[in-house]
Amino acid sequence: MDRKRCEIICVGTELLLGDVLNTNAQYLAQGLSRLGLDLYVQTVVGDNLERMKQAIKAAMGRAEILLFTGGLGPTSDDLTREAVAACFGRELRHDPEALAEIRGYYALTRRPMPPSNEKQALLPEGGILLKNPQGTAPGCIVFDDDGHTAVLMPGPPREMRPMFDNLVVPFLRQFSGSVLLSRVVRVVSLGESRMEEMLADLIRDGVNPTLAPYAREGEAMVRVTARAKTREEALELTEPAVRETLARLGRHAYGVDVPDLETVVAELLARAGYKASFLEAGGGGLAALRLQSARGGAAVCGPCLSAPSMDALTALAAPGETLPESPADACALLAEKAKAALGTEVCLVTALSGTQAACAVSLPGETRRYAQTLPSRGADYYRVAAAQAAFDLLRLSLLDRLEGAGAEKAKAGGNAAG
Ligand code: ATP
Ligand code: MG
Repeated sequence: MDRKRCEIICVGTELLLGDVLNTNAQYLAQGLSRLGLDLYVQTVVGDNLERMKQAIKAAMGRAEILLFTGGLGPTSDDLTREAVAACFGRELRHDPEALAEIRGYYALTRRPMPPSNEKQALLPEGGILLKNPQGTAPGCIVFDDDGHTAVLMPGPPREMRPMFDNLVVPFLRQFSGSVLLSRVVRVVSLGESRMEEMLADLIRDGVNPTLAPYAREGEAMVRVTARAKTREEALELTEPAVRETLARLGRHAYGVDVPDLETVVAELLARAGYKASFLEAGGGGLAALRLQSARGGAAVCGPCLSAPSMDALTALAAPGETLPESPADACALLAEKAKAALGTEVCLVTALSGTQAACAVSLPGETRRYAQTLPSRGADYYRVAAAQAAFDLLRLSLLDRLEGAGAEKAKAGGNAAG
């Protein structure tokens, strides 16, 4: 079947006023992309019948499938049903099944049903009811005579999301001849522009898959996207491009389809059999918080201290100690002193003061340090960037250790065999 064009129309004056962030549009857009359906335009329109009709007619001129959220409630400003019925040339009729659903919901929640809720049982004729076990507003799918389809879903995300996933996605599959699959290579300690240079030809020439670079706070990423008949085929198509990207970026690439840097660090710590303690000066304890929140992070995390300055930290972790002038050296000394006291194999110390970030990682028999001046972008960014740099220093130290151990083992194995 031909690929259909979709549009998303989110209804609600609260969205226009900026009171509510339009997360429904994001959720639906991601879902359509996974289905391989084309989406070129999204619309937000207030709770106003005339303007809604205008928006719907415009969308019907561009696309075949219109997805709506919001405006299905019982109040007089909930007008999506009326607007769609008018534009699709369909009468609104009371649907007995919809009414039974709404009554059932009220019975379940042991509340009397307000008479206004009967309005929610109105369905454009010929439509398909979409049940809503999470709330009172049922959704529906409506057809016109010219090949247009409208999917009406409630506004609250906790009602809209399960309706979309469980009922709408299976319905939309018939219109999608393909799937779109993306894999994400995560990159750290390498600016987006430098990364783009290293991948320039792949980004320029990629057709299926395509490569797209993105910048995120404190890191960069490359999205590799392929379209194919099945998920497996799409995955296979991405494989060579992902491999090439990893080869070119080397150790700057810290993972593929991983949640974040701290999850990767937690895995490496577990593989090495180490626990890490954190001492953070001026970073608000962000690195420790991130590691402890990561999958598997709590198990590899030892005691953590956070203080507003290096002096305060020293007074706590190594009282009586005088620290070197250089922040990186100060971190290193503190890491070595504190490691034994805190009873962990690894101690990571970070110092953040204005745009000056320093850190040190002390592992058994080795301490590494690092200092950098951050681009001036504000306190939130400095914290993220400092934590990110610290995690990367720890990651690289652990990789060297694990790979070194691997090489030693291989050598020993080789000798034994020879
Ligand atoms: P209800 O029966 O709750 O009135 P409804 O379908 O009429 O359902 P709306 O009244 O349009 O939905 O929206 C209800 C609430 O859902 C909004 O106040 C808002 O908090 C949330 N919401 C609506 N649209 C969106 C959206 N596009 N993105 C995120 N949240 C939304
Ligand atoms: Mg409403």
